[in-house]
Amino acid sequence: MGDVRGIIVGSRNARVGFPAAIAILRAGGSALDAAVAAVKEVEANVADQSVGIGGIPNILGHVELDASIMDGRTLAAGAVGAVKHYPHPIEIARKVMETTPHVMLVGEGAELFARLHGFEPANLLTPESEAAWRRVVYGEAETQSSVYEDAYQLYMHAVRDWVKLLHKEIFGTTNVIVRDLAGNIACAVSTSGWGFKWPGRLGDSPIIGAGNYADNRYGAAACTGRGEMAIRCASAHSVVMYLRQGLSLEEALCQVMLDLRALEDPFAERANVMNIVAMDRWGNVAAASTASDATYVVQTVEMDEPEERPRLHVPLTES
Ligand code: ASP
Repeated sequence: MGDVRGIIVGSRNARVGFPAAIAILRAGGSALDAAVAAVKEVEANVADQSVGIGGIPNILGHVELDASIMDGRTLAAGAVGAVKHYPHPIEIARKVMETTPHVMLVGEGAELFARLHGFEPANLLTPESEAAWRRVVYGEAETQSSVYEDAYQLYMHAVRDWVKLLHKEIFGTTNVIVRDLAGNIACAVSTSGWGFKWPGRLGDSPIIGAGNYADNRYGAAACTGRGEMAIRCASAHSVVMYLRQGLSLEEALCQVMLDLRALEDPFAERANVMNIVAMDRWGNVAAASTASDATYVVQTVEMDEPEERPRLHVPLTES
């Protein structure tokens, strides 16, 4: 087995954050610093409608962000959920991890915490994301009916119909796993969650064990896709547990994807999507997806550019 130090792996949209992370790793910085720096770049990318500023809002038109971070050296973790007004939830999650006895803060409590720690609020709703929201909640006709009056019906309609209606706009998250030159692993995840989600809905991204898990002794994993599935199967933690039991990285990933097949889901059946990136304790990386053409990105400190690689394809159903 190799011993790959100074490496970052993540979802395809994390690529914009790789230069910042690689610079930190090359300078001997920590996996935690590099992971946060990478994710912050994605959060700041207004063109990415699945993370940070520019995220697709919830059904009421408010952008709500979730993020989590885990330190594989100490198993310390921090997370925030349903945070409005603050563009860098990953930094707030880190602050929760480092300054409180808690792991997760949500909603108003998380926003109060952010304010007290001097985080800068910002308008998270871009004209593009607002337009996407309007298209869905009002339809092409832009009727005057208020989304607030029958938001729940509209929401359930959107959820049941999302394959047709929202397919391109509903999902997205960014995640990175970093191993620094000292051999420590950190995993960071950030998202605006399901587009058009119910206010307060949390997916897997802020839930340690579901969308994020890191343990220097065995490895790390992070998920994107339909978060409810990763929560129900504790997918990120399961990858690490299978590694602990001696499976190879590819075997562990495949097993976790196969575990998803047990889930019954009356809401989204065939359109369910799950993607996992993973790293073993030696810094080897791999990724899997229910989709056939999915990719992930990886870069070591020796490489000039990130490399895009295909994910293992593990469909949700036997074909
Ligand atoms: N996993 C995220 C969530 O469920 C969304 C995504 O990755 O597409 O909130």
